[in-house]
Amino acid sequence: MKNRTYAENIILIGCIAGMLLILPFTIFRFLNGDYLVSLIEGSLMVTMMGIFGYVLKTRKVAGAALLLTALCLLVTVVVVNLKGPAAVYWYYPAALACYCIINVRMASIYNIIGVTLLFPALYTNMPITEMMIVFTTITMLCVFGYSFALQTRNHQTKLTHLAARDALTGAWNRRSLDESLLQKISSKKRNNHQASLLILDLDHFKHINDTYGHGVGDEILKKIADLIRSSIRITDKFYRYGGEEFVIVADSTDLEAASVLAESIRSRVEHSRIFSKEKITISLGIASINQADTAENWLNLADEALYEAKNQGRNMVCMAAAA
Ligand code: GH3
Ligand code: MG
Ligand code: MG
Repeated sequence: MKNRTYAENIILIGCIAGMLLILPFTIFRFLNGDYLVSLIEGSLMVTMMGIFGYVLKTRKVAGAALLLTALCLLVTVVVVNLKGPAAVYWYYPAALACYCIINVRMASIYNIIGVTLLFPALYTNMPITEMMIVFTTITMLCVFGYSFALQTRNHQTKLTHLAARDALTGAWNRRSLDESLLQKISSKKRNNHQASLLILDLDHFKHINDTYGHGVGDEILKKIADLIRSSIRITDKFYRYGGEEFVIVADSTDLEAASVLAESIRSRVEHSRIFSKEKITISLGIASINQADTAENWLNLADEALYEAKNQGRNMVCMAAAA
């Protein structure tokens, strides 16, 4: 189970637990001549075995999770209809499994259908107060399952956000950049998809920190990040590459369009009085994806162009040399 996602593990464990727990009942029913129910439960076990093998091999979980939970609920409903209300206890783990394995919306839909299908069997075979207890307790279980699953999903979204973003500026972090560059390179190889990379570095930033303190430096970095965010398109992404360096990956943008974008950001920083006591400027290096074969190569080309901009006096944009 090592190196598998939570979703894979819960399906794999669910299948093993389900098979082991249902097996004694299947054997017992068979020995008692209750062949139909034994056959239904046996089929559920075989399907669970199939789902287990499928997830183990392919690591695909979405369809497997929907099938597994739907089958568990369906078999429970069928057995309650065949054997009477005593089998309704099986519904509880099956309902909870829905909230653990599939998304909350689908889990709720499954349970509404499941409870509706249970109703005729319980209504005809159970005193009304007992039936009400069953439905009330199933509803409570679903409400708690729903709340818990929703809260878990929100935490997961927050953690994913925290793991991918830089805390100070809100820009995507270096790890996200590496993933994005690899994805762009493969997209270029497959579909010849255009993109350009802009590396942006604050000029003489050490002096700002040394003179006015790190706190002031941090505020300037945040303002630069806000300015970049408001300058790029929704399809572009920007990353904090290092201490006072940012990278913009501009989608569907050739070198010429990238240089227009770079120049507009450079000019906005120069003229937008980010810091009242001194003028803040930036230098930029740009490279088109057409000039590179690998992510590393692409970054290096833009970095060399940035180095060139610094060498030529800063507060300027330089393009990577033609390949
Ligand atoms: P250049 O024009 O050549 O880029 O000069 P520079 O002073 O900007 O470059 P250098 O690499 O010498 O210094 C970068 C400085 O950025 C060093 C450090 O004080 C500052 N820095 C890096 N990360 C942070 C940060 O998170 N917050 C603050 N306030 N400063 C940072
Ligand atoms: Mg730097
Ligand atoms: Mg710098």
